[in-house]
Order: sequence, then structure tokens, then C-alpha cells
Amino acid sequence: MVGVGTAASTDQGFRWRLAGDGAGQPALFSDEELFDRHVGRGEFRGLEFLHVNAKRLINPVPARSRMGFRFTINAYRGCSHSCEFCFARPTHEYLGLDIHDDFERKIVVKVNAVERVRAELRSPKWGGALIAMGTNTDPYQRAEGKYHLTRGIVEALGEAANPFSILTKGTLILRDVDVLTEAAARTDVRCAFSIATLDEEAWKATERGAPHPRRRVEAVRKLNAAGIPTGVLIAPIIPGWTDRPEQLTEVAAACIDAGATSITPLALHLRPGVKEHFLAFLDARRPELAADLRARYGARSYLSGPEQQAVVGPVGDLGRHRR
Ligand code: SF4
Repeated sequence: MVGVGTAASTDQGFRWRLAGDGAGQPALFSDEELFDRHVGRGEFRGLEFLHVNAKRLINPVPARSRMGFRFTINAYRGCSHSCEFCFARPTHEYLGLDIHDDFERKIVVKVNAVERVRAELRSPKWGGALIAMGTNTDPYQRAEGKYHLTRGIVEALGEAANPFSILTKGTLILRDVDVLTEAAARTDVRCAFSIATLDEEAWKATERGAPHPRRRVEAVRKLNAAGIPTGVLIAPIIPGWTDRPEQLTEVAAACIDAGATSITPLALHLRPGVKEHFLAFLDARRPELAADLRARYGARSYLSGPEQQAVVGPVGDLGRHRR
């Protein structure tokens, strides 16, 4: 991590049981219990896996949310893809972990996720609504290579003919083409890759744990060829770094060539906590850009409407691209 704080976390500091710890914070994770820890070895070196049993996997989104889905599943917390701008970083703070290195290396694994999802899908209370995955962590990050939770959940959703969507940067999704294809034969399955740029320098700097963006483009091609409708979010577009017209048209053209079923460009969003993290990262690497973004975003999380239009620029109209 570059130039950011390192809030300490200890075994005793994990806060899964907030309701009774006197910390005065909401009991967001009171239904998850840490019971084991594994230090990653071999291809998982550098990671630590915190095993929890979760009481509930299918979670409703807040009523005020303007997202196009009402329910989510996130089998992990934290994400080894380590995107500097990641909107989900603050989710680790609630656990007594930090939003910097801990978010990237201490991955919470809901080891009972598949059995819980199966039980919740069987419940007479469940109405069969679309479920989104990839909203707070990447379901195909490195941990999935070890735990296979997303694969099990895809199988469960497919068997129940329950519609679902997956947003990812992980080319590991190609491992699961077989179960995704089976699910798509029974219900509505949609995938999307987040591919912000093909600029090597920007990718290596800002998404250092995620697969190369050209490998993601090829994954879009393979999934669509397998009959799994897969679109692309060109996101986040970083003003002053990845918003040059030639950069945007390059990534859009590659995705259209790969058969992307939709192209959705989105400008950088910096919610509180993430903004401080990302600007500290830029201070160490591109201080002039950090100063520019401080001025442009001010106290806001989003650019104004006209500024967003200017940033998405030549690919703005592709927001309506649908095959
Ligand atoms: S892949 Fe998604 S969830 Fe993972 S760090 Fe990047 S933005 Fe966050």
C-alpha cells in the first residue's frame, strides 16, 4: 500500500459481534462468527483467510438503493484484486480491520455459503427474485480458486432456476463456464466484466491484483461464445488519467469486438473513506492529479452531471449499446 495509514487490527480486535461489544456501532455482522484462520500458502501466499459461519447469505439491498436488483450474495469480504479506488474498502472497517492492506490480504470467507444459499432458496419465504453477485467483493478473486464458493452458489441458483447476475474482474470465472451454461439454460443469467482501461500503467498502478485487462476482454469473448450474455462496465474512468478519448475508444472497441452485450461507462466515484485512501495513493504517485481531483470532487462523492458527461466523453452514447 502506498502512503496510507495502517490502523492496527488484532485477533481481539475483530468485531463480528458488535451488538455486545460496547463499541456503540451498528451490529452489521452480528450474524457471522469467526471460528478459524488460515494463512495462505503457495499460490495463496500473502493472503490470510478468516473463516466465518454466516447465518444469512441472500441479503436485501436498502430500499433507497437505485440499483437494478433487490438482493445480493457476497460469499467473501475484502478483495485481493486490491483496486485502489474500490468502493467496498470501508466494509472492512466494521470488522476492526483496516481498509488498506487488511482489505486486500485478510479475506473473510463465509465457508458455509453454499449450504446457506441452498437453504434460503428452499424457504417458502423466498420469492425467486434476481440476485446480484459482485456488489461488495469480487466473487472470482483469488480466494475462489481455493474455496469454490461462487461455483457452488452458481450451481445452487441454476438448480433452483433463480435468476442472477455476476460482476467481476476475475478471469477465474472461465473455470465455471460449465455450471454457468447449465444455469443459463434454466434461468436468466447475466455477467459483466469491469474493464476501466487497457492502459498498462494505469492498470498496474490502480488494480494491481486484478487480471490483465486484455485477459478480461478475452473472457468476455469466451463467455458470450458459450451463450452467457456478458457486458462490460468501463469503470471507473479516472478523470485526468484514463479519460483521454483515445483510451476510451480503445477499450470500448475491444469490448464491442469481443461481443459485449452492453457497454456502460461510469466516472470515478469516491465515497468517504475511499476518497481519503485513493487520494493518499495519488499523493505518493501523481500529486498533481491528486490536487486536481481534490478540487474537482471537493466534499462530494460524485462529479456533477455535466462533469460526468465530459469524462465519459466519446463513449457516453455507448451506455445505450445493447445487443
Ligand atoms: S475487483 Fe471490485 S471488489 Fe475487488 S478490489 Fe476491485 S473494485 Fe473492489
